[in-house]
Amino acid sequence: MKRRNFIQSISIGLCASALNVSANTYLPKTNKTRVIVIGGGIGGINTAQSIKANDPENKIEVIILERNKTYFACPMSNTLFGEIKEVIKDEGITFHYDYNTTIKNHNINVIITEVLNADIQKKTITTSNGKLSYDFVVVATGISNDYKKSFPKWDNTKIQKAKKETPSGMISDSGVEKNILLKQMQTWKKNGGDGDFIIVPPFGGKVRCLPAAYERACMVSEFIKKYKLKGKVQILDNSSSPKAKGAKFIEMFMKYHKDTINFNGMTGQDMENRIIKAGYTLDNFKSKENFSIVEESFSTAKVQDVDFDKKQLKVKINDNFDDDNGFIKYFNYSIANIMPRHKANITTELFKVKKDKWGAIICAPKRLYSVSDNSVYAIGDIVGFHKLSPSAQVSSSMGIILGKSIAKRILENKDKLDMTEAGITCFSMVSSQPLKAIEIAKKIKITKKGQAKPYGTTTSFTNGYGLIGWYQAVVETPFKY
Ligand SMILES: Cc1cc2nc3c(=O)[nH]c(=O)nc-3n(C[C@H](O)[C@H](O)[C@H](O)COP(=O)(O)OP(=O)(O)OC[C@H]3O[C@@H](n4cnc5c(N)ncnc54)[C@H](O)[C@@H]3O)c2cc1C
Repeated sequence: MKRRNFIQSISIGLCASALNVSANTYLPKTNKTRVIVIGGGIGGINTAQSIKANDPENKIEVIILERNKTYFACPMSNTLFGEIKEVIKDEGITFHYDYNTTIKNHNINVIITEVLNADIQKKTITTSNGKLSYDFVVVATGISNDYKKSFPKWDNTKIQKAKKETPSGMISDSGVEKNILLKQMQTWKKNGGDGDFIIVPPFGGKVRCLPAAYERACMVSEFIKKYKLKGKVQILDNSSSPKAKGAKFIEMFMKYHKDTINFNGMTGQDMENRIIKAGYTLDNFKSKENFSIVEESFSTAKVQDVDFDKKQLKVKINDNFDDDNGFIKYFNYSIANIMPRHKANITTELFKVKKDKWGAIICAPKRLYSVSDNSVYAIGDIVGFHKLSPSAQVSSSMGIILGKSIAKRILENKDKLDMTEAGITCFSMVSSQPLKAIEIAKKIKITKKGQAKPYGTTTSFTNGYGLIGWYQAVVETPFKY
């Protein structure tokens, strides 16, 4: 058995047991410079592959430590809720990936193991298999849900109930939460689709893929239309318009999902009436200036509590047009998809470097390593200091640039990173017939403080095949080839 395969198989076999072995007995260090990447998600895998792509003489040892045997890619996975035929039929799109291609084609060691601790003084990582030492570490652990911040009064039992019964489907857990929701939808369909599918977008703080909640609403609506179900999608949002791509989503809700999506209690017809009442037409409300006035007149819906036994949400509604004091309304649900606030993945806490309030690693100006330890790099959603939205495109394009920079630092002693080479693109599938998506694209500039920051946003409607092509190029490629 080859050494690499042996290591992977012992990793899988011993996953649950914490061995008290020294760093060197677990995986002895060679004379190569060792880079450990924590997390084999979109940021981690791109960084790891890019380091090796820029290491022609094989002087760098790259090891990915990942807790799940397979990665479930989140981008575009909302189309599974809509059973979009271009995604599920024919050869279909793959969402689950293993790491065999990365091990074979990229000369990277992937160990399936849970990271349990980190000592940045001694440069060691403790995993469920034992300790490993590193020269550089790249933290790429993604996000965790923050129920405590969203529902401070909930105890642990209630949080566990929420995870099982009304999961978010927004974290990288090999698709566990998403499968719960998809299964619930099949039961809902079997029972005639009575009652509503409630979506509660994350209410506050930095959020992974802000438009994902509204994209999911459109996809569940497609499911309702396909099977002619009685229920509707109810979006209950603390914001008076979708928090990303606002005007475009409102336009889509009215155009394609008029009878199947209610936004904060308003049907598509109510939204149309409200726009007209605010003095705009269905064409001119979309301009940036007009929309900021229109959205002020829409309602907000703040979810206060959930009764899992009654399947009921307690919600404070404020109809901002009439400027009243708001009222409490109870919403019954058949399915509830409650997305709490996000925070940096809790594994990030193990690295005792400077963090912001969200838990992200504060990076040095113009760099993606920690401001307090330049051997600790950050990539993906957990990057702090820079103003980058947590997204696959940012994680992937920054990962490629970062990998090149790490290789140059090790091989040529040159510490350079040009983050303006990265890009931001975000698609949301909004209808199945015709297959349509909203696309936003941004460029990145570096401010005087050395912060990477988006600018020059363009928003457009595109053919949904553009999203499929983007997914294949950006998300599928690093796992499949
Ligand atoms: C529904 C949905 C739709 C989305 N749509 C888009 C889109 O259209 N466009 C877009 O650009 N982005 C989209 N995103 C966002 C995108 O998926 C994330 O921003 C991206 O995955 C972040 O990459 P990452 O590497 O930071 O984290 P992840 O991809 O989450 O990877 C983190 C990895 O770290 C591993 N890990 C964590 N802790 C440990 C530990 N202790 N030990 C070992 N391994 C660990 C996890 O298992 C995981 O594999 C969407 C997200 C969702 C949920």
